[in-house]
Amino acid sequence: MGVSWRAVQRQNFKEFASFLEFVELDLPSTKRVEFPLNIPRRLAQKIRKGNPYDPIFLQFFPSLKEEDKSPLFVLDPVQDGASQKSGKLLHKYQGRALLLCTSACAMHCRYCFRQHFPYETTEKSFNEELAQIQEDSSLEEIILSGGDPLSLSDRVLEDLIDRLDAIVHVKRIRFHTRFPMGIPERIDAEFLNILKKSRCQIVFVIHSNHAQEWDETIFQALKDVQKIGIPVLCQTVLLKGVNDSASALHDLFSLLANRGILPYYLHQLDKVEGASHFEVPEEHGLAIMEKLAKSLSGYALPRYVREIGGEPHKVAIRPLA
Ligand SMILES: *Cc1c(COP(=O)(O)O)cnc(C)c1O
Ligand code: SF4
Repeated sequence: MGVSWRAVQRQNFKEFASFLEFVELDLPSTKRVEFPLNIPRRLAQKIRKGNPYDPIFLQFFPSLKEEDKSPLFVLDPVQDGASQKSGKLLHKYQGRALLLCTSACAMHCRYCFRQHFPYETTEKSFNEELAQIQEDSSLEEIILSGGDPLSLSDRVLEDLIDRLDAIVHVKRIRFHTRFPMGIPERIDAEFLNILKKSRCQIVFVIHSNHAQEWDETIFQALKDVQKIGIPVLCQTVLLKGVNDSASALHDLFSLLANRGILPYYLHQLDKVEGASHFEVPEEHGLAIMEKLAKSLSGYALPRYVREIGGEPHKVAIRPLA
């Protein structure tokens, strides 16, 4: 057995001084306290030293630009509040609902649209949400999201999956997780056993924005997931300075395709307060997609989408003409 994933997680950088020293940079940071610096060591080690434009550094460093106020960037950009069935169940789209399992993540991505979301913190059980899922037989798929569902202990996840397995109309359980990108040790034998014994089809949607985030250990951990019959898809957020070029995204999507991981969505940034400096204009995103369509296999090309409050699905971004 290797080291436990909890021990690995305790090595995350959370202090500005030690992180900046590690990446050999000296920069001012925002004083916002509610969404602090948090980056796993594995990711920090991939940042090129002394480079403030590094695509991993930019995703995790709380820059002063987060204090820029733009009237279009708001606290709840995708109107999750309006779809909140109870504390932790979001039912926006037909046939599937999203369970906010936890507010904890393996890392704090600065563009995260849920960074200001008022998570329920007092009620830890999922009794109310499970009762609602039980009552609504249209719900075939439950998406475990958050935060990051892999922040939960195996004991809590096993109990949750057991209880979903017991609801006959639930056919699929989908994990939305970025955990393996920072702490692939999370996918250990115990966790794989929990996935294996579920009656439901499990689906994994991971989140990665740049080829530089990957290494062999991460691919191997996800291969273990694929080997037990679980499809692994990837979602990516289009981010200025990080991956807003055809070459950066070509590198990421072809790398994923080479490992049997299918690019699912390329998301236009949600306009969340504090993230305006990451926005890429849609015309630029469309021009990138146009180039990618020529250079990638059809299955390696994700759908370019954005979320619009009130729409019954994620909306494809297409040329106007
Ligand atoms: C994105 C999202 C889903 C999943 O949508 P898919 O298009 O099936 O990936 C479900 N519920 C909510 C609230 C979402 O934001
Ligand atoms: S891992 Fe996901 S939920 Fe957590 S901060 Fe990053 S984008 Fe947000």
